[in-house]
Amino acid sequence: MEQSGIFHESFKERPYWWEAYTPDASDLQEVPLESEVAIIGAGYAGLATALELSKLGIEATVLDAAEPGYGASTRSGGLVGGSNSIKKPLVAEAPSPERAAEMMADAADGFYLLEKIIQDEQIDCGWARTGRFTGAISKKHFKAQEKQAAVMNESADAGAYMVPQERQREEIGSDYYHGGLVVKEAAHLHPALYYAGLKQACDERGVRICAKAGVTGLQQNESGWSLSTQRGDLTARDVVVATNGYTGDLTPGFKRRLVPISAYIIATEELPPDLLASISPKNRSFVETLRIVPFFRLSPDGTRLVFGSRVKWRDLTAKEMAPLIFDRAVERIPELADFKITHAWNGNVALTIDEQPHVGKLEGMHYALGCNGSGVAQMTYMGTQLARKIAGVANYRCAFDTDQFPTHPLYKGNKSLLVPLVGNYLRFRDWWDRKTG
Ligand SMILES: Cc1cc2nc3c(=O)[nH]c(=O)nc-3n(C[C@H](O)[C@H](O)[C@H](O)COP(=O)(O)OP(=O)(O)OC[C@H]3O[C@@H](n4cnc5c(N)ncnc54)[C@H](O)[C@@H]3O)c2cc1C
Repeated sequence: MEQSGIFHESFKERPYWWEAYTPDASDLQEVPLESEVAIIGAGYAGLATALELSKLGIEATVLDAAEPGYGASTRSGGLVGGSNSIKKPLVAEAPSPERAAEMMADAADGFYLLEKIIQDEQIDCGWARTGRFTGAISKKHFKAQEKQAAVMNESADAGAYMVPQERQREEIGSDYYHGGLVVKEAAHLHPALYYAGLKQACDERGVRICAKAGVTGLQQNESGWSLSTQRGDLTARDVVVATNGYTGDLTPGFKRRLVPISAYIIATEELPPDLLASISPKNRSFVETLRIVPFFRLSPDGTRLVFGSRVKWRDLTAKEMAPLIFDRAVERIPELADFKITHAWNGNVALTIDEQPHVGKLEGMHYALGCNGSGVAQMTYMGTQLARKIAGVANYRCAFDTDQFPTHPLYKGNKSLLVPLVGNYLRFRDWWDRKTG
């Protein structure tokens, strides 16, 4: 394929979502001298924490190094899972069936919490609860999905069922898979408009969100914390770290527990209605049983395909990565080869050593971190749970709040060695499963 020919004349190297809402720092709120709670990071996790704290009568200030929303929260694919977001651990031991069920049930709660916030705050963000199809890349994977469906239905009432290969075209316009799993309790939304709505809800409750106020220093003292930011200092009783894939040297204890990975997405030009209807006849979102998982869906207005791939191992720009992602899309839906790309972008997610998200307290700091690539519902949920815990009103300890936030002896926060190693291992496992499956 002539790679340069895939770019539309209107091509932009920035998120398609930013056509509807662009992160913005024109309203530079002053950094206050003090706040009950200081939240570092203004993505979904930080804002959800602040929103819930404000509902509970606790004053929170959110500090972000860039424009609020500049991180992953306005860049994602907008696929929303519940129980199906919980993955198998990569290096750590698999959780017991009871523990897995606990996490699935809480992740499902996160899905319904997100839906409730969207409804309560009347956020117009293309919320489409139209389910997800996970294509099996081998016959063995299809068999494994049957077991997975049973567990998901039992622990989280996920409405999961299998679709055999001969009926696959009822779900997706592709013959690429060996059948797959439908999960009814899944959705997709416009990630930047959801972000904008969450931010507006915070603004309306008087939450102070300080843009371009990167936190550069953190010191614990008898009464709480002193924070230095790029635009002034403040003190706070509690600190929340919500920096996920953008966690830096400010918090080395978290940096060594999180592996930041860049994920990439492309959006196509508008496609013909009959092709769109054949790609996604039920407006589902799509993922696969691959470990390096592609994810795709139609745009909220149903006019184009948004196709992403979660992992890269080399440092490429979004434009450089776009042809590789487009090839993957065409492999699955050959008719796409006649069309062009209008947008390509990327952003950081944070993997954890045990592939599970974590919320809790470490070195005196509260945190909600480690989305492992699925954070629209999950980070909203963990932020909300964290706020309830800080306010002392949580009536149970959520499944992601454990005393374990594992490190790995080979990883100290420098991803340059670990990421290619793990990436190539996953790629090999995917290749092997296809070959032998
Ligand atoms: C390309 C891509 C596709 C994705 N697709 C999906 C999907 O389809 N479904 C899904 O559920 N999830 C998806 N995700 C994951 C999801 O977007 C994230 O899990 C979620 O947005 C993380 O929210 P957050 O609030 O934890 O972090 P972020 O939104 O990343 O926010 C972290 C913030 O911390 C700030 N920060 C860092 N250091 C400092 C500092 N020292 N001082 C102040 N601020 C600081 C950063 O500026 C940033 O704004 C995707 C992510 C990407 C990048």
